[in-house]
Amino acid sequence: MSKFTCYRCIHCCFFTEERESPVLLWHEVLYLSKLGEHLKVKLNFRSLGHGFYRLIVSGFCSFYDVASRACRIHREKPLSCSMFPLLIELNSLEVSTSLICPWVYENRRELLDGSIGEKLEEVFHNEFKALREVVEWVYTVSNETPKLAVYFTSYFKNVASEVIKAVSEKYRVIKITESSVVDGFYYLLVEGEVDRDYLENLLKRDEITWYKLEKVPPIT
Ligand code: SF4
Ligand code: SF4
Repeated sequence: MSKFTCYRCIHCCFFTEERESPVLLWHEVLYLSKLGEHLKVKLNFRSLGHGFYRLIVSGFCSFYDVASRACRIHREKPLSCSMFPLLIELNSLEVSTSLICPWVYENRRELLDGSIGEKLEEVFHNEFKALREVVEWVYTVSNETPKLAVYFTSYFKNVASEVIKAVSEKYRVIKITESSVVDGFYYLLVEGEVDRDYLENLLKRDEITWYKLEKVPPIT
């Protein structure tokens, strides 16, 4: 079977029904809010419970640039957008493909005959990587070890590096993201019991313009 080719049609980013809009993981809500603030786009979210949210979109997504037919936050779009046309049922972790996607529709016979199973990763290489990240997130937040999300903005690269180094030396940092959309915006996911005062002292300095610490709610 040939590899998946995205036709860059509008179906990923134009929504007529709320149930089609992108599902977000807990930490993606604040992350996207920050990107939205920067790009001056208004976003609406709805909680779906169990640590999942929906980005409520009617028509084109606020991040979609109609003229260039591209997502303005492409490298940082939600995982559910990155993995499309792969879909996952979060309770059973069953994977399927969306027939809304014209490539899937054209290849539906081969996709439906059951032989794709092991080749899924090969056919949907990048999308599969995003899917794996979703599954990893679900497993990560399902265990009982507490997790803290640390968001901060600093225009001083050396200060940001110092903070990341200090946090990484003291705690287990599962994820570090430096935004390519918002200058100086960072997100860290820290695992284990964390001394918030220590982190606050680290982050309360003139070179850090904004920060937020949020306890990650476990998926139940
Ligand atoms: S975030 Fe980007 S990829 Fe996702 S729906 Fe919006 S414009 Fe499309
Ligand atoms: S619907 Fe399919 S072909 Fe169209 S932009 Fe999305 S992934 Fe690409």
